[in-house]
Amino acid sequence: MPRKSHQRQQETDRSDAFRAYIAQQGLRGTRQRMAVHEAALAATSHYTADDLLQRAKAIDTTVSRATVYRTLPLLVGCGAVREVDVGRDHTYYLTENGGSGFRAQLICEQCETIVEVEAPFMEWYGKAVAAKHDMRPVSQRLQVSAVCSKCQQSKS
Ligand SMILES: [Zn+2]
Repeated sequence: MPRKSHQRQQETDRSDAFRAYIAQQGLRGTRQRMAVHEAALAATSHYTADDLLQRAKAIDTTVSRATVYRTLPLLVGCGAVREVDVGRDHTYYLTENGGSGFRAQLICEQCETIVEVEAPFMEWYGKAVAAKHDMRPVSQRLQVSAVCSKCQQSKS
């Protein structure tokens, strides 16, 4: 029980933070924008803008595709959501849940299942090689294209 109310409190804090952020941008925390935020918070794995639209519509049927596309950059801007570019024609998003540090992605080439793994050594590696060349790393990513076990099975 106390755990649940704690969780609810965290969600309220995050909603307040988001509302404050969009107010800073001179925007209003409309019901639709807050539904998109709520849908993003509930997501536990990677999703596309269209996935998020479906989830947000389940919360508030008046959420439009345009609202989702306009709200996503706000969610990214305030740090609630991270863009995950896996080199496909659509961008994936992942809701941040406190975990920090460098993360790498394993992407199934066939079904586009994405697995995130902590890869702190990559951060160290990037800094080390950049320092060697008198450079300061700005960003880096590690993505492994793979075939997941499900797709391996369906092939054989
Ligand atoms: Zn697969």
